[in-house]
Amino acid sequence: MQTALADFIRDTPEGREAEEILRKCVHCGFCTATCPTYLLLGDENDGPRGRIYLVKQLLEGAPVSEKTQLHLDRCLTCRACETTCPSGVRYGRLADIGRKLTEERVARPLWQRAERRVLASVLSRRAMFAPLLALARFARPLLPKALSGSIPHAVPNAGAWPRARHARRMLVLTGCVQPALAPDTNAAAARVLDRLGVSLVEARGAGCCGALRFHLSYQKQGLADMRAIIDAWWPHVEAAGKDAAGGVEAIVMTASGCGAVVKEYGHLLRDDPRYAAKAAKISAMTRDLSEVLDAELERLPAATGKPVRVAYHPPCTLQHAQQLRGTVERILTRAGFELTAVPDSHLCCGSAGTYSILEPELSERLKANKLSALASGDPELAVTANIGCQIHLAGAGTLPVKHWIVALEERLLR
Ligand code: SF4
Ligand code: SF4
Repeated sequence: MQTALADFIRDTPEGREAEEILRKCVHCGFCTATCPTYLLLGDENDGPRGRIYLVKQLLEGAPVSEKTQLHLDRCLTCRACETTCPSGVRYGRLADIGRKLTEERVARPLWQRAERRVLASVLSRRAMFAPLLALARFARPLLPKALSGSIPHAVPNAGAWPRARHARRMLVLTGCVQPALAPDTNAAAARVLDRLGVSLVEARGAGCCGALRFHLSYQKQGLADMRAIIDAWWPHVEAAGKDAAGGVEAIVMTASGCGAVVKEYGHLLRDDPRYAAKAAKISAMTRDLSEVLDAELERLPAATGKPVRVAYHPPCTLQHAQQLRGTVERILTRAGFELTAVPDSHLCCGSAGTYSILEPELSERLKANKLSALASGDPELAVTANIGCQIHLAGAGTLPVKHWIVALEERLLR
């Protein structure tokens, strides 16, 4: 695609990156066929090709309006379009750049600004989120449906975290909302890995990965979260380089949404002289939990008894952003689960970070479609790999939904 970027952006890092992305797009439109919002709304501007064109106009200096903001807001950043694109167009990065510029030029109504600010502040801060979640569970009947559907009726017991006794160690991201909503996920991962001779450890002071604020267009604050977590992890990473006790061989993500962003730290902080090298190292060491277990597959205890029928929902952040497909499926099959067929498994469930709260109508439609696809093979439960999808789908109450590591531990180790 021919572009002539405007003076204000042409010679900036974002301008150069956006131009490179835009030049790759040949406008073929293959991506529209797999875009969830295009499939629901049928509007070119609610598909990737239309959004790319809107961002191109913005970068070329055309006036930007609420219309561009609306179509970018409706995008889930699911990145299904990246998987489909034959030209390797990195739509997600272009959307980040376009959103930041739109945000600077189009003032949102006061209530929208307030809603986004509250979400960015509360969800990314564990100390604030946990007590508010407890309060919200009592106040559920008074809350709007988009919010109450995301509040679990009960929080599972985490169980004991094994003592760090092995020479092999990996760091695990604690995260922001996951410890309050599903504390059993990291604990189950720690117990399963402990059985395989790996101690999983959490770093003191490591909180939100930065994805939340970055994707709400508080990019500066999101980058600050990333630097803070790098600071918290760095002593563990450095110790590994020196072969000292306590050094870790990998950084494990149990939420694929966080993993997708941490794997991009190197790119997002590439122009920061203090953090570029550390960020690149952190990204290179980051593994989704499924990558770690897939490498140890033969050492998993063998399953006994009747197979359990399970429907697997691969989060977009795993299958499209991280391009990891088949790993969780392989592990579940080895662990004695029978995977049921799930039509359109490439499509987003509508969770997408804060999307379910900010775009409730589209999100609900996507959730209904996903739940019906998951249930179509008559499974006993559904599993997924990201806290957002898990809580979003479980909230409907039609099918038990767990993190796959929790289901695996229940089947193999209890
Ligand atoms: S993003 Fe890729 S698939 Fe979509 S129109 Fe451009 S080249 Fe075609
Ligand atoms: S990221 Fe998802 S919702 Fe956004 S344009 Fe691409 S396919 Fe459509």
